[in-house]
Amino acid sequence: MPKYIFIAGGVMSGIGKGVATASIGRILQSKGFKVTAIKIDPYINVDAGTMNPLEHGEVFVTDDGVECDQDIGNYERFLDQDLSTHNYITTGRVYQAVINRERNLEYDGRCVEVVPDIPNEVIFRIKKAAQRSMADFVLVEIGGTVGEYQNSLFLEAARMLKLQHPKDVLFILVSYLPIPNMIGEMKTKPTQYAVRTLNMAGIQPDIIIARSEVPLDEPRKNKISIFCNIDKRDVISAPDIKSIYEVPINFEKDNLGKRILKRFGMSPKAKDLKEWRRLVKVIRNVEGSGYSKRIKIGIVGKYFKTGRFTLMDSYISIIEAIKHACWYYKKKPEIFWLSAGQYEKDPQSVKELSNYSGIIVPGGFGNRGIEGKIRAIEFCRENKIPFLGLCLGMQLAVIEFARNVCGIKKATSTEFSPKAKEPIIDVMPEQKVLLKEKRYGGTMRLGAYRCKIKAHTISFRAYGRYNVSERHRHRYELNNRYKKVLEKKGMIMAGINPERGLVEIIELKNHPFFVAVQFHPEFKSRPLRPHPLFKEFIKVCSEK
Ligand code: GLN
Repeated sequence: MPKYIFIAGGVMSGIGKGVATASIGRILQSKGFKVTAIKIDPYINVDAGTMNPLEHGEVFVTDDGVECDQDIGNYERFLDQDLSTHNYITTGRVYQAVINRERNLEYDGRCVEVVPDIPNEVIFRIKKAAQRSMADFVLVEIGGTVGEYQNSLFLEAARMLKLQHPKDVLFILVSYLPIPNMIGEMKTKPTQYAVRTLNMAGIQPDIIIARSEVPLDEPRKNKISIFCNIDKRDVISAPDIKSIYEVPINFEKDNLGKRILKRFGMSPKAKDLKEWRRLVKVIRNVEGSGYSKRIKIGIVGKYFKTGRFTLMDSYISIIEAIKHACWYYKKKPEIFWLSAGQYEKDPQSVKELSNYSGIIVPGGFGNRGIEGKIRAIEFCRENKIPFLGLCLGMQLAVIEFARNVCGIKKATSTEFSPKAKEPIIDVMPEQKVLLKEKRYGGTMRLGAYRCKIKAHTISFRAYGRYNVSERHRHRYELNNRYKKVLEKKGMIMAGINPERGLVEIIELKNHPFFVAVQFHPEFKSRPLRPHPLFKEFIKVCSEK
């Protein structure tokens, strides 16, 4: 019988519940157990694929092609494990399944009700994920904050599951303890309210992870213990830290793993977080190191400005992939946000790209910022600045090359101009049908596809093998009609999908590193196993 651990948030969102969940997973894994993790997102969207990254953050993609919440990315990175559709639940998915079942007469003619049919479907999905993974521990993170109308049905599911298996379910509340400036003291009251709210849903937390700017002191732990009705040893201090990868180690300072196992009457089967601790040591050393160890990477994008704030969530997997590769070489990553729009307004400003060790043009959708990115790519190509193009970044690299090297001045993508005369980047026939019928959700080329690597290329040097598999999320492709012209002028088709002959990687000759890929390698980078392409990119950058 698997053990279920529900993780809910108190007081406010954005306090690192996803990283907390991933860290609990890593801790239990390090004690010798098999772990899986499920993210519940209480929105109506069936998946995250239709949402603007500025609003929701990055859309992460699994091998089996689910467009999901970025927390799944955290789980994969911390657990070093590929997850799937079974690890992601949304209100949309749950209702869709229940309604389909009702339409198929699968409820034997009875009235289908929100309670208990919706929580039952949630439980069904959680159990299925447990079964498929054969995990000892199933972590279930409930998105949002307790008390929100949206997630009450999921709390209800958690309560009902505990009723079915009283000894196998545990609740963790990740809560926030503010230190208001004018008071200068850490306040526990909001957390007390959050626990009361949970109580109203019939749930008593077993453990409270107390997020705050600084570690919790004894008086605060006592207060939470008394007012929230839990053992003081189950109040885990979770202060702000520099790197998310330190979180498991920090939790262990308060014996979180031991406390969880004790609850279930279990004992550890293996010892500690050895590899993880080694990684954190490297991170700390590198972060404290001087100028000579820095690698400055510029990302030319458009999904990071909202009002007066700079959000980096849209590119989280890319940021992590850069870090993993830098740490591998014991370098300190420094990431800079370069606005594509700026290079359109002031084309000369593109010269600033010379200040960086390497440039990344990431994925994206729609017209905005396109010409600025193309300008940036041209500059990298001509000035031999290491360049890595990701998805849209590859499409634009091909367009730039077609225009400026092959002389096809009108080269573009049918995404930007549907009636393009020179559709260097175009949709596949099956995608045309989908677009015409406005069937946008979950219909891109999604998930893992095979890619065959050409010998004597930078890509082969990076991967060290001919057959790889990478994750996709796009509708448009390099138009094979133009392949010959591009090759003639020196573009190397370094990776091809063997099933459909689609170009997956392009490279340029006579350039230290000009590699662009149609897929998203960033999704497969892990802290202890950096992605080969990022690794090679950073290596070349560090030689610059
Ligand atoms: N907009 C492009 C496409 O749909 C690229 C997508 C992306 O960068 N993920 O093909």
